[in-house]
Amino acid sequence: MSQLVAYAVSSNNSRGRAIHEEPPVGRSEFQRDRDRIIHSAAFRRLEYKTQVFVNHEGDLFRTRLTHSLEVAQIGRSIARNLGLNEDLVEAITLAHDLGHTPFGHAGQDALNECMRDYGGFEHNLQSLRVVDVLEERYAAFDGLNLCYETREGIMKHVTRKNIPKLGALGERFVQHKRPSLEAQLANFADEIAYNNHDVDDGLRSGLITLQQLQEISIFSRHLKQVQDRYPQLPERRMVYETVRNMINTLVTDLIRQSTSNIQDAAVENLSDVHAAPPLIGFSQQIKKEQQELKKFLFDNLYRHFRVVRMSNKARHTIERLFAAFSAEVQLLPVKYQKKFEHEGHQAIADYIAGMTDRYAIKEYQRLFTIAEG
Ligand code: MG
Repeated sequence: MSQLVAYAVSSNNSRGRAIHEEPPVGRSEFQRDRDRIIHSAAFRRLEYKTQVFVNHEGDLFRTRLTHSLEVAQIGRSIARNLGLNEDLVEAITLAHDLGHTPFGHAGQDALNECMRDYGGFEHNLQSLRVVDVLEERYAAFDGLNLCYETREGIMKHVTRKNIPKLGALGERFVQHKRPSLEAQLANFADEIAYNNHDVDDGLRSGLITLQQLQEISIFSRHLKQVQDRYPQLPERRMVYETVRNMINTLVTDLIRQSTSNIQDAAVENLSDVHAAPPLIGFSQQIKKEQQELKKFLFDNLYRHFRVVRMSNKARHTIERLFAAFSAEVQLLPVKYQKKFEHEGHQAIADYIAGMTDRYAIKEYQRLFTIAEG
């Protein structure tokens, strides 16, 4: 790894793991975290979970797995340029979506509603639960026993009522402190990835059109540059080229603006970073353009009637599964029945949240459909 700046997270200034382990040989602590995440069952399930489109709608749409890989790629580029800890960023970005329910935001909202009387459901908190408790692979501990800073990066925000559930990780929310720059940039890498791949997937699906996107300044500016340079380019390639250039602009802008923020704040070490205002960010112009694009995607893609119909089915599926398990705990697999005895409805939430899209659909059929064969 390239030289780290003094205010980067490193194995030396890490708050370490909840359960002591001997330092790894031949790799850094954060490479070890990254490796544990990649080998987890929750990571493999990301392949069959979606954000906007349901898994069976098409092979070329992003899944949470390919999304996470894109976030990791963008995050690492930014980290390397800023002299921050690339391994930590990779670990955070690969883990950031581990706690997501099936069916994207519709699934999360539905499960949150179902869990209203039992403490609610938050995907960030669930991601932390996956790496802290739910993965069962190691002899000496539950979860993955990740470093504090990796867990801090996963826990990007939390509602006030859930702060006590976080233990030491909750301190910074109470004290209004910022997480590491690695955690801050992971968040931006997430945003850069989904805004751009949702444009790409949205166009591919036909739910949004090139014509509509020409009204959006960041897209039209980059499209025009591509068209001027390659007037004969077929449409699909033109879209790829435009999206590729948009990602490049965003990454470059984020690096430039963050470098200047960091210089202005004169941070010298990690405690300075925690005490400073957020230092990773876009320039004003790009920030405005990003908001415009986000609003466009929200109004035209995420609220497109075909997506809303799918979300409605997703919500219905989660609600019915939850209601059935709540009414008759013996419908749960034995392992979760046992967990229910100690943890109540959280056990049902864990079971449902762990499902992939297709597993949830199958489970729904197993519970509610009588079929031959
Ligand atoms: Mg994400």
